[in-house]
Amino acid sequence: MDAKAVEQSSDLNERNVPLEMTGQQFRDLGHQLIEQIAEFLDGLCERPVTSGESPQAIRQLLGSDELPLTSTTAPELLDSTTRLLFDRSLLNGHPRFWGYITSSPAPIGILADLLASAVNPNVGAAILSPVASEIEAQAVRWIADLIGFPRTCGGLLVSGGNMANFIGFLAGLNAKATWDVKQEGFRSSEPRPIVYVSAETHTWIEKAAELFGLGRNSVRWVAGDSDQKMDVVALDEQINKDIIDGHRPIMVIGAAGTVGTGAVDPLPAIAEICRKYDLWFHVDGAYGAPAAVLPDADENLRGLSKADSIALDPHKWLYSPLEAGCALVRGPNHLTAAFSHRPAYYNFIGNEDDPPINYHEFGLQNSRGFRALKVWLALRQVGRAGYVQMIGDDILLARALYDFANSHPELEAKTQNLSITTFRYVPPDLIKQREKVDGYLDQLNTELLNRLQAGGEAFVSNAVIDGKYYLRACIVNFRTKLDDVKALTEIVARIGRDVDAESRPADLR
Ligand SMILES: *Cc1c(COP(=O)(O)O)cnc(C)c1O
Repeated sequence: MDAKAVEQSSDLNERNVPLEMTGQQFRDLGHQLIEQIAEFLDGLCERPVTSGESPQAIRQLLGSDELPLTSTTAPELLDSTTRLLFDRSLLNGHPRFWGYITSSPAPIGILADLLASAVNPNVGAAILSPVASEIEAQAVRWIADLIGFPRTCGGLLVSGGNMANFIGFLAGLNAKATWDVKQEGFRSSEPRPIVYVSAETHTWIEKAAELFGLGRNSVRWVAGDSDQKMDVVALDEQINKDIIDGHRPIMVIGAAGTVGTGAVDPLPAIAEICRKYDLWFHVDGAYGAPAAVLPDADENLRGLSKADSIALDPHKWLYSPLEAGCALVRGPNHLTAAFSHRPAYYNFIGNEDDPPINYHEFGLQNSRGFRALKVWLALRQVGRAGYVQMIGDDILLARALYDFANSHPELEAKTQNLSITTFRYVPPDLIKQREKVDGYLDQLNTELLNRLQAGGEAFVSNAVIDGKYYLRACIVNFRTKLDDVKALTEIVARIGRDVDAESRPADLR
């Protein structure tokens, strides 16, 4: 078509766009959706935590796999999808959800996600997101301030703990490798770079070692003490040995709250060792770092202030809806050193006297969503004092759960650190010989957990401690009350009794 023909085909000025809505349609649908969400939130505690249906049953509800050719009306779709999601999802906003580490989402964060996608800034470059980029930068400074890290640090929001840890890992690797890793990659002629982690470290470290070229042989799993914390004497010895063997130690990774039991490594002592050997000090605080806000925080959490980089998940203990992780790096230059490229097709440099914050230079993503809004609004809504209160109460509830389990005749309490409590069901007549029947107790508690997780009354996960299987409740849930954790002990005891009656081997009867 030539230009004239195009101009004459007037229908391109009157496009019939199937995705568009009028303002009135959007308003009507939006009001209705907000009504339904508000009702859902009000009624959470009357719903089961999960409907426990099989993947196949859910798949069937979704209907035909043939992509629809034409349209379905938006009201019809939203109505049926709202019901599907409310009725069949696992509800981590439920007061009795304590599995893994997923918080109840802050209501203001729910609204923030709607607002963020309405404006839809691309927070990869300041020119594309002038307000959002500054809000993200302020959110990063506030998170640093919350945990006692310098506000002058660099940082950014990412999808979660794995990504936040990757950022710190890559920044440290680039800073401490003896050659230009970005230019040369890994070379067999160079000493092998070694990173040190506690035996309880989350599986992100294996992915990082595999994906970023070091290989798993570069990871030293330092033994823990009896409290699942890194043994710093063993760490020092291992570093020494690696140096003698001609390797190149580059980084120690400490945990501010392990994923299994919430143990906090001796971070101040690890910081000392990093200084002694000139190593990068990264802290995985994906779960536990926010607890540093408490006036009576664990002394070891003070060591966060000495880290070179920190990972922290707002979608865990800052109660942000998924997804939101945060990486903090003491020297902002280490982020750009690891991640910055300035291609000719980006006109993002701006004014040198007032340089823009271009987030694509700080991390792995290029185009980026506005996940900072939900984090920033929640921090503003309740402030430091609000987080002190909510995090403090979560810890008190975890302690109460430990005490309830400890005084229950059929339960054995094992650990409580931060807001994670572990315990297991032990039939009273087996308590005296429990060391001898550990194999059976593992099996009993595994089946107990399977039933509990599918049943919908409450939701916890598991931890393996000293080779034994325990139930694990992690309370990052501002909706949980004392009666909820008390109820958990009775639910567990009841299911434990049932499983025991059905499955105890004859020789233990
Ligand atoms: C949750 C967690 C991770 C992984 O975080 P995601 O947000 O799930 O990617 C890493 N380390 C620790 C200590 C965690 O608790």
